[in-house]
Amino acid sequence: MKTKILLKEADMPTHWYNIVADMPNPPAPILAPDGSPVTPDALSAIFPDAIIEQEVSAQRWIPIPDEVREVLRLWRPSPLYRAERLEMALKTPAKIYFKNEAVSPAGSHKPNTAVAQAYYNKLQGIKRLATETGAGQWGCSLALAGQLFDLEVRVYMVKVSYQQKPYRRSMMQTWGAEVFPSPTDITQSGRHILQQDADSPGSLGIAISEAVEEAAGRSDTNYALGSVLNHVLLHQTIIGEEAKKQLELVGEYPDAIYAPCGGGSNFGGIAFPFFADKAAGKEIDLVAVEPTSCPTLTKGVYAYDYGDTEGLTPLTKMYTLGHDFMPPGIHAGGLRYHGDSALVSQLYNEGLLSAVAIPQLETFEAGELFSKTQGIIPAPESCHAIAATVREAKRCAETGEAKTLLFNLSGHGHFDMSSYDRYFKGELEDFDYPDDAIQASLSHLPKVG
Ligand SMILES: *Cc1c(COP(=O)(O)O)cnc(C)c1O
Repeated sequence: MKTKILLKEADMPTHWYNIVADMPNPPAPILAPDGSPVTPDALSAIFPDAIIEQEVSAQRWIPIPDEVREVLRLWRPSPLYRAERLEMALKTPAKIYFKNEAVSPAGSHKPNTAVAQAYYNKLQGIKRLATETGAGQWGCSLALAGQLFDLEVRVYMVKVSYQQKPYRRSMMQTWGAEVFPSPTDITQSGRHILQQDADSPGSLGIAISEAVEEAAGRSDTNYALGSVLNHVLLHQTIIGEEAKKQLELVGEYPDAIYAPCGGGSNFGGIAFPFFADKAAGKEIDLVAVEPTSCPTLTKGVYAYDYGDTEGLTPLTKMYTLGHDFMPPGIHAGGLRYHGDSALVSQLYNEGLLSAVAIPQLETFEAGELFSKTQGIIPAPESCHAIAATVREAKRCAETGEAKTLLFNLSGHGHFDMSSYDRYFKGELEDFDYPDDAIQASLSHLPKVG
């Protein structure tokens, strides 16, 4: 049995897969903050032309520029593993495979899009990128990519994470980025929040407002987002394309795919290339896994909403908990966003994708089991995909089904050991976000469409 399945460098994909070409309905249009149709001009204040084109493209295959492939080769193609030891521990007849995106320099899948975005901005003559980061994974990825393409990077980091994850901050600084705890007093959005609450711990929505404001106000500066948008999911499809080739090498095809879902980028990345087969009639379950404390797909509504707290971004139709949703301080920082990718949302709404919400403790239990059997310590976000896979593998043990399961190991947990510490000390709790708090936040949705 092959436990580690590698692709040759020459077999690294040459094109990204654009799911829009295979969707039964065209994507819902993006609207300007006031509800009118969005103009390309509004987007070009913060994004380069190539990215805007990709955001609205319906072309099935989009070439990956050579300069981008050249950088991706530093760690790609990433390995696919058969998790035999986990299978044995679970006494399951199911076969469990996982794609290891933790092997990138930043430790997650996020550099796959950071590199592409930095490249297109450089091509356009942009000098600086402004962005936000929650747990620090995206900030690190963009800092790395900016460094490789000689762009300055400024990161607004959610204040609680800035305090809790000093080494993520040091990594960004090592790769040459400037990092500020958000909310700051250097943007209008930040000052507005601080007036209401001087001790605001910050949120991804607030940090996005600050970064977008800076990018919109300076012609040499653009904005880069690490998830949610169509072009981000597009850049991540290299994960699923590779995984498909790797499974082919061992004569396998998955019955189900699991990935953690924050804004949907690593889920779209691993699942979308298989959606083309599903659209053609193949049976495969594509499952987005989210925390019960931020249950966007499983408890949110499908409506137009802002991507940020202050209402500066365009409106997209998506599953949302409301743009002013304040997520509880759970440890899967990357899964705390109020909204979700428009593409994932639309396909989920049409019943073509599945979603499951899992409580925090079960995710850490799965992460511990995975660490002890396979050796790799997963990011708390990735633990969600592992927990969902473990649930299905245990079900297979009861029914005797020999299903083939695939999950995405979106990142390692080396900078999340304080979360593991709290788990081992018994200090972690399950938290179901209360329905009335969700209702309160949803009552502030913009009235459009
Ligand atoms: C950011 C992050 C996620 C969640 O983001 P998506 O856009 O939903 O993929 C998941 N896992 C890790 C390790 C992350 O850094």
